[in-house]
Amino acid sequence: MERGLQNQEGERKMKCLICKEDAMTSDKSTYFAQLPNCYVIIENVPCLKCSQCGEVVYSASVMERIDDILKKVEKIASKILITDYDQAA
Ligand SMILES: [Zn+2]
Repeated sequence: MERGLQNQEGERKMKCLICKEDAMTSDKSTYFAQLPNCYVIIENVPCLKCSQCGEVVYSASVMERIDDILKKVEKIASKILITDYDQAA
């Protein structure tokens, strides 16, 4: 007789902070930042997106990398910079 064992999910599902649904899925997003001297747009940033309400969450490592990119961008004298997450290393 089979016991009703619960399937162990390898992937940890995250609850959405806004609508509390288990609807967060991996996605890519465009990150927009306004620095004192310019605007920065980073495309293709990995994120978790709520398929319910559209809330976007970045992981700590992604936030760190965005920080790094922004620090580098600050030194480039440009009003608007559009870059790609994967190419900005
Ligand atoms: Zn949500």
